[in-house]
Amino acid sequence: MISINQLHFTYQDGQFALRIPELCLETQESTAIVGPSGSGKTTLLNLIAGILTVPSGDGEVIVNGISVQKLNDAERRLFRLRNIGLVFQDFQLIEYLTVTENVLLPCRIHSSVLLTASLRERAKELLDSVGILPLQNRPVTRLSQGERQRVAICRALLLSPPLVLADEPTGNLDPISSVRIVDLLLRQAALAKSTLIMVTHDHSLLNRIDRVVPFEPFLQRAIPEPAAEGAAP
Ligand code: ADP
Ligand code: MG
Repeated sequence: MISINQLHFTYQDGQFALRIPELCLETQESTAIVGPSGSGKTTLLNLIAGILTVPSGDGEVIVNGISVQKLNDAERRLFRLRNIGLVFQDFQLIEYLTVTENVLLPCRIHSSVLLTASLRERAKELLDSVGILPLQNRPVTRLSQGERQRVAICRALLLSPPLVLADEPTGNLDPISSVRIVDLLLRQAALAKSTLIMVTHDHSLLNRIDRVVPFEPFLQRAIPEPAAEGAAP
């Protein structure tokens, strides 16, 4: 379902390079990407989602048979809407909207997704399944971190995307809440028949996940560190 070949990405300032010779992730598997801070985990999720791209010749990211780099901006937005549910590290909720309005946000993004009664119903079911239906009309500014996280998860799952990308979804949670959130993501992804890719630092959660991809081997710097010996003063 996801296949990456000879990928070479650098940010414009040239300070960080991500090289992935080959990576294949299977449909309906859950995968955890584990690695130190700054190793490029968020960058990888953004490349899979087509939020970041590489120039042609710098490798390929293929998702569900679609070569993400070959799409233009408008096609990539549509690709993202149809294929990907993103749970951002910082949730990225819209502060002036309510819980339900945030969950239904994908319907405001593109004219091809109409806000139907059945999507409203699905939003309610999702909120109910994560235990925050009673908060449906509350502005998200008046939620706890854990509640905000649940809203972000419901929004990512609204359109039952084939692929759910969750960036450190347990980042700021205590161990019990972390386990709950991961189980929730796994359960909801299974119900929607979605593939889940999750970035995490938390090794205690990995026994719940089908596959673990350690990220350190990919860590590379575009600008080499100065040599320790013989370096100019
Ligand atoms: P991780 O998610 O593993 O902590 P990131 O993918 O966020 O790592 O970042 C990898 C590296 O890329 C870091 O060194 C970070 O400073 C750098 N980086 C992230 N975003 C940008 C950006 N927009 N422009 C330039 N460098 C960036
Ligand atoms: Mg990150």
